[in-house]
Amino acid sequence: RPRGSHVRRRLTGKLPPWSAPSRSGNQVSEYISRTFLDQQTEMELPRVTPTETPRPMSQISGLRGLPHSAGLSAATVPRFGVQTDQEGQLAKELEDTNKWGLDVFKVAELSGNRPLTTIMFNIFQERDLLKTFQIPADTLVTYLLTLESHYHADVAYHNSLHAADVAQSTHVLLATPALEAVFTDLEVLAAIFASAIHDVDHPGVSNQFLVNTNSELALMYNDASVLENHHLAVGFKLLQAENCDIFQNLSAKQRLSLRRMVIDMVLATDMSKHMNLLADLKTMVETKKVTSLGVLLLDNYSDRIQVLQNLVHCADLSNPTKPLELYRRWTDRIMAEFFQQGDRERESGLDISPMCDKHTASVEKSQVGFIDYIAHPLWETWADLVHPDAQDLLDTLEDNREWYQSKIPRSPVDLTRPEQGGPDRFQFELTLEEAEEEEEEEEEEGPTLDTEVWESPDTERLVPEASPDPGALPLDNQR
Ligand code: AMP
Ligand code: MG
Ligand code: ZN
Repeated sequence: RPRGSHVRRRLTGKLPPWSAPSRSGNQVSEYISRTFLDQQTEMELPRVTPTETPRPMSQISGLRGLPHSAGLSAATVPRFGVQTDQEGQLAKELEDTNKWGLDVFKVAELSGNRPLTTIMFNIFQERDLLKTFQIPADTLVTYLLTLESHYHADVAYHNSLHAADVAQSTHVLLATPALEAVFTDLEVLAAIFASAIHDVDHPGVSNQFLVNTNSELALMYNDASVLENHHLAVGFKLLQAENCDIFQNLSAKQRLSLRRMVIDMVLATDMSKHMNLLADLKTMVETKKVTSLGVLLLDNYSDRIQVLQNLVHCADLSNPTKPLELYRRWTDRIMAEFFQQGDRERESGLDISPMCDKHTASVEKSQVGFIDYIAHPLWETWADLVHPDAQDLLDTLEDNREWYQSKIPRSPVDLTRPEQGGPDRFQFELTLEEAEEEEEEEEEEGPTLDTEVWESPDTERLVPEASPDPGALPLDNQR
């Protein structure tokens, strides 16, 4: 990456749980991360005893036996992959498989709570992937049931419903006109498979929590993309269970290629990679090339995987682009999960992560902040890439933002003195630039402006200019 383009966070408040720890180790960013990122260093942490039983390092944790419903043979595969006495209604719901706004919640109800198996089986049939890759139907269903059973039903958000949602959203995004016939069958298979496994065995707490509590998983993966590495390991390991190898008829070369792509996509779902992913996507949009057929020209692995990584990442962050009634249900779930993490942090004497304190968090403000700083910038860029395919979706996102905004209780204090907005303010500013480089440049060339700043359309309301920007203080103090 070019000089000066590292992501630096200048903060005016708390960061949400997806934020990454500072790794640069210089004094300025140490100060910023300690003071403004709310990150706990080892010294500040109380001793927390891991609750898991230690296991040999060579073993992947979280693996269970086959679910009872497996043990299928080629002759006994139900129409939608799962046993249900509501096949007619399920068929009706699944007519929306190719649409943004399929009711996955309904599919879950009608499939005996096997939305991932049902939707994946349907997508594979819809796309003829069983024939293309010679996947036996019973193997596919056995793998899917096994995968689905490794999502935690008692985790409020990161359960198999979210995986089904992301897989189906990926399926729809892949069908966008600007990408017509751009990706090979193997790439399509990889993207859908990556989506299905991308959160498997999620424990319902963030990477930062796992690191702060000295978890086995953090130990296993040296604190780097802990969850994402684990999801991949489990997703691939389960292919080795009985009658689960859906890639058995792929060539060795295809298997390797698919594996590489899936790894690249799932690792890119780590939110600490978001800013770099988005910056690179913006660059791609600026230099976008289209073929004579009007579809995107992607003529090397780096460009192809970049689009696929962003596509799956968009699907992962697609809640606010869905019809409001669906979006609200996702919000309820993610907030319930965040609050549970907050409760565990409180009990352990840890600092409570932003948005995770049920006593102070504002659900509505959290969503407006999530849209303004994360979801909208990403989707706007995606919409530019596939213009005009994603216009409706972007409109829905903006309408949904207005809905949550309108639900924020407004007091006169909030309006005139936004800096007193309360303890759950969702305020941060993200800039591209490395602190010490900025200092160097200032010495050489006088003060420079941030090279790039992501701001929401109404940043002024969320990030008031009033009161000195606390993010700027540590820099000034260092000089
Ligand atoms: P994942 O955990 O793999 O689903 O990654 C997506 C991350 O984006 C989540 O962990 C959340 O931190 C964040 N996110 C996604 N949807 C929402 C939402 N509706 N509200 C707040 N944060 C969200
Ligand atoms: Mg994840
Ligand atoms: Zn996810």
